[in-house]
Amino acid sequence: MDLKTIKKLFCFALLSLRFASLSPIDLGAPIVFAAETGPDAQANPPFYLAIVIDDLGNNAKGTEEMLKLPLPITGAVMPHLPSSVKDAADFHGAGKGVILHMPMQSDTGKQAWIGKNPITTDLSPEQVRERVNAALDELVYAEGMNNHMGSTITQNEPIMEQIMDVLKERGLIMLDSRTTPKSKVGDAARKKNAKYLTRDIFLDGTQDGNEIEKNLRKAANIAKKKGYAIAIGHVGPWGGVVTAEAIRGLASALQEEGIQFVTLKDLYAALNDQKPSPKRKK
Ligand SMILES: [Zn+2]
Repeated sequence: MDLKTIKKLFCFALLSLRFASLSPIDLGAPIVFAAETGPDAQANPPFYLAIVIDDLGNNAKGTEEMLKLPLPITGAVMPHLPSSVKDAADFHGAGKGVILHMPMQSDTGKQAWIGKNPITTDLSPEQVRERVNAALDELVYAEGMNNHMGSTITQNEPIMEQIMDVLKERGLIMLDSRTTPKSKVGDAARKKNAKYLTRDIFLDGTQDGNEIEKNLRKAANIAKKKGYAIAIGHVGPWGGVVTAEAIRGLASALQEEGIQFVTLKDLYAALNDQKPSPKRKK
């Protein structure tokens, strides 16, 4: 036998072994071999992971650490606070995404946490518009908005429709932080045909690094199942430095598994085929 024939026989034997180890049901389905984890894996579409970091704008602990992450994360900046403009400019300057983190009335959270010029149920539709526009005028780099707290407001469909009108006029994306399972943000966005995404998982709310790593893994698993995931973390006491460390520590491993970090804006574009690459159908 020449070398070619020996090689062929060897490959055939290997294939037979693989087939022998599969159940008859497995044989009925299209079979993909080692390419799943080998270099050919690059040919598969990536699994997008958009990490949004809430509560920027108040010189919060962990802001620098988030800014230094070598990843296209998105900063959600609260308006009218001491470092609002600086944090938004710094994130934008570092090639990261920026969205407005709009303070909104909540059923449960302390009033002291709500921030400046929040959206509350006692406002007129014109006041709602004014407050959202004023916040967006301050944060000129904002590519979208999500809600800070807001369990009361996001259940209020008329107010969410007023907010959606402003976002639509300005071409911006609404990310529902989903601080309540009763949120009407999706309904309002669909009614107004506005750009809309929703959070899949919160990363922190704790100072326990192991817990945050677990949540990052969960986020990656969601992305692998549905093609993308949106995870929200925080600066300040609900995460901050420890969240930044967890993201930094796991980023390379997740990228090797096919996770591609993207800003919220790029995720929206990819899901809606607004640019040639990266591309992925819904
Ligand atoms: Zn917040």
